[in-house]
Amino acid sequence: SLRVADLHVSFGTLEVLRGVDLAVPSGSTTCVIGPSGSGKSTLLRAINQLERPSRGDVLLDEVSVVRADPDALRRRIGMVFQHFNLFAHRTVLDNLVLPLRSVLRLSKEEARERALGHLGDVGLADKAPYRPSALSGGQRQRVAIARALAMRPEVMLFDEATSALDPELVKGVLGLMAELSATGMTMVVVTHEMGFARSVADQVAFMDHGRVVEVGPPGRVFESPSSPRLRRFLDQVL
Ligand code: ATP
Ligand code: MG
Repeated sequence: SLRVADLHVSFGTLEVLRGVDLAVPSGSTTCVIGPSGSGKSTLLRAINQLERPSRGDVLLDEVSVVRADPDALRRRIGMVFQHFNLFAHRTVLDNLVLPLRSVLRLSKEEARERALGHLGDVGLADKAPYRPSALSGGQRQRVAIARALAMRPEVMLFDEATSALDPELVKGVLGLMAELSATGMTMVVVTHEMGFARSVADQVAFMDHGRVVEVGPPGRVFESPSSPRLRRFLDQVL
């Protein structure tokens, strides 16, 4: 399980996370929604220790990761961004193989076999020899997901993984994420796709001004929001 407790993150004098509490049980999917600037990306980055909290804690299986070795942590937590962050000058296959070699220290053969397996899982084994630039945005994002999964993480974080995609490519990536959720991966998904949150999430967390203001099963969060701020947000996006 993943747990965030009273997490505070500041940039200079700007306090962006102001005491975030969130519990994500193992095998469940939490979707994080909220207005632009509310701190959603900062929360994911802080979970992955890309930002340092000034106060509070992030716990994996109830053990703090705040002072853990960042490399060890990133083996346990996979992250997928809006803009793929693939190595442009490497083949699709190498994008998966290189971190398996350098971070997990797999042999060439093991890394290649595992990489091809994960590319096959996302339907892209035939793209292995190409550069990412030869792929569509949706295919690139599926490669980024396969690359994260190849590390066999315990938790997957998604930061608006579909918002840079053309509309017709969104469905395929959301479908892949829904499948992953159904297999029992522990996931935190920042998304503007309310349909996805409603149908896939076990719980939905609404963030506003650096705090989780409301959290609950999607039925309750969407049908009967208790905070006025969430009601206003849903009026704008639904
Ligand atoms: P969006 O929906 O637009 O992606 P968000 O909820 O992900 O928004 P964050 O990116 O977490 O919001 O940003 C929260 C606040 O923190 C914003 O006011 C932003 O300007 C500020 N912020 C984020 N990163 C930094 C940084 N590296 N330095 C200074 N301020 C930052
Ligand atoms: Mg963001």
